[in-house]
This record gives sequence, C-alpha cells and structure tokens, in this order.
Amino acid sequence: MTTSLYVHIPFCSRICSYCDFSKVLFNEKWAFSYIDKLIEEIEGYNIPKHSQKTIYVGGGTPSALPYVLFNKIIGYLSQYLAEDGEFSVEANPESLSVEKIGILKENGVNRVSLGVESSQNKYLEMMERPHSFEDVEAVVSNLKCAGLTNINIDLIYALPGETNEEVETDINALLSLDVPHISTYSLILEDSTKFKNLGLKEADDSVQAEQYELILKTLREHGYERYEVSNYSKPGFESKHNSVYWRNEEYYGCGMGASGYLNGIRYKNTGSILAYLSGKTVAEEEPVLDSDKPLLFLMTNLRLKSGFEISKFKEFVGVDFREFAGEKLNKLVSDGLIAIESERVHVTDKGMLLLDKVTISLI
Ligand code: SF4
Repeated sequence: MTTSLYVHIPFCSRICSYCDFSKVLFNEKWAFSYIDKLIEEIEGYNIPKHSQKTIYVGGGTPSALPYVLFNKIIGYLSQYLAEDGEFSVEANPESLSVEKIGILKENGVNRVSLGVESSQNKYLEMMERPHSFEDVEAVVSNLKCAGLTNINIDLIYALPGETNEEVETDINALLSLDVPHISTYSLILEDSTKFKNLGLKEADDSVQAEQYELILKTLREHGYERYEVSNYSKPGFESKHNSVYWRNEEYYGCGMGASGYLNGIRYKNTGSILAYLSGKTVAEEEPVLDSDKPLLFLMTNLRLKSGFEISKFKEFVGVDFREFAGEKLNKLVSDGLIAIESERVHVTDKGMLLLDKVTISLI
C-alpha cells in the first residue's frame, strides 16, 4: 500500500528571480477553483483514511493561500494522516500568520519547512524574496510558542558574488534560530528564470565545493548530521517524507506540476494552471523499465548517508548488487569513495563530494 502523499499548492505572492518550480502568481479566483479541483483529484485515488505515514504540502507557497482555503485544504488532508504520521507543510515567513499556525496545530501538522534562503537583506532583495530575516525570526518564535518545533529552514548558497564569510554569516544566523533541520542548496541557474535572463553565472565549481564544505563543517560542529547530500538534522529529525523519494519508494503526487510514483509508473501532472483548472491532471506517464532500474535505485539511495541494504538492490533490480557492480565496486571501495558495512553500501565523505561521478561509475 502507498503510504506517502505529496500535494502541490502552486500560488506565490511574488516570483523569485531563481525559481523554476511549478508556480503561478496568486490569483484569488484561481485559488478557490484550484482547491476544489485538487480535492477532486485526491478523491480519485480512493486513499484510505488514516493511512498516510507521510503527507507533504509543498509549492509554490502553501501559506500564500488565504485563511479560508488554507484551513480547507489542511483540514481536508488531515483525515488521511496515519497515527504518528509526519504531516509537513511548506511556508514562507511573510505569510505564515499566527492564525495559520493555529490551523496547522489544529489539524495535526507536525513539521514546517520555511523558505528562508538567506539571512542577508542584499541577497533576499537580489532573489526578490518577499520577506526579511526579522520576519523569519518572528515566525520561528511563533511556531515554537505554538509547540511546532520540528522546523526546517532552506538556505541557498553560492549566490552571485557571495563570499565564504557571507555564507558563514548565513549559517550563524540559521544556528541562532535553533531549529532541528536545515537544507542547503547551491544556486543553480535554470533556463527561463529571471537570473538566467539577466545573464548571471553560477559560481565556479571550486567556490561551490568550498562553501559546501564550510557549511558541512560548521553544522557538524553544532550537532547536525548530514543524512542526505543537502540535508542536515539533529538526531531523530530527518525528513520522513523526503526519505521516501531517496529510498525510491512509491507515493501519490497531486496538484498542478506534481510528480508521483505508483504501481511502477512515474507520472507528472500538467504544469498549466488553466489545464489543471479545466480538469486535466496527469500529463506524462513513464513506466520504470528494467533497464532504468539500476540507475534509478542508485541515484536515489546513494544520496543518503545510510545508503542501502544490499538485499534491497536485488529486490528492486532483480540482480545481486555485488555481481552487478563487480570490479567497479572494488575500485570505488579501494579509492575510499564507497564503503560496505554490515551488508549496507554507502558513500563516504569523500564520495559525497563526487556523488554524480560515483553513481555513474557504478552503472
Ligand atoms: S516562493 Fe518558492 S515557489 Fe514561489 S517563486 Fe519563490 S522559490 Fe518559487
């Protein structure tokens, strides 16, 4: 049985300069129709009540919804949450009011992921983020007062012109918030983003690697563990929902632009708001072919510090992992990039830095 549900809310109050997610500017008329269509789509899956071990509401900006719609969708989703399930909602600091935090609490939401991205006004303005770091401090304090302490903060580093000292400033600011989970991503300039159109360039690989190492070292010194290549947590606060993706497990995906994985088929919903509002949902379906399985399995599982149990590879791919990887595996082990312990395979610290190369070299 599928026990994870992703729900996408595409509305944002402003479009950030680097964003290539599936999103639209908030429009009240669309938002009301959207929530109705979204509920219709979820109903179509006949998900048993109280069956979902993880529910994740992402975006876009879920907290950009007006109170009445936020209440409607969070309340609706709460019926699917299993006892002791993880219920996460993404939010932006400027729109997560005390009243909306109340809705989260009342409906069993127990994890909040905040889009913060930087602590420095010059970079927040550059990215056209609609909040200040003071907004972040206020919302974190409000969440904690409400007893919602399982908080993630997203950070972007390697911004145009950003120095190592500025990255340190950001990390120290995040540490001052005392939250149990931090996700960090280097800036990637995707086509059709404002940054790309302005002709900005990504930082050199060496700068990205230096800043990645700096973040890793500082967070480790403060008791965070890197349990996934871009994700750090205090013990016991790993994201259960995202771990479903990294373990290559199946999940429902609902809403405009959402991806899902059911019955061996990966699918993607339409990214057009007008098409979605007219009743179209799935736009692309791709069965996972036997020939794709090794790469799919390794691309996901090797991101995790804990890697994978050797027997899981055979379960999914149908071939013994040692036979599959043969000499390539021995070479990666002797180069100190991969380790095998108690029948688990995982990348080492050194391997994490070269994760794409390590993964491809196993295929
Ligand atoms: S808030 Fe998030 S989804 Fe919306 S435009 Fe900014 S980065 Fe994109």
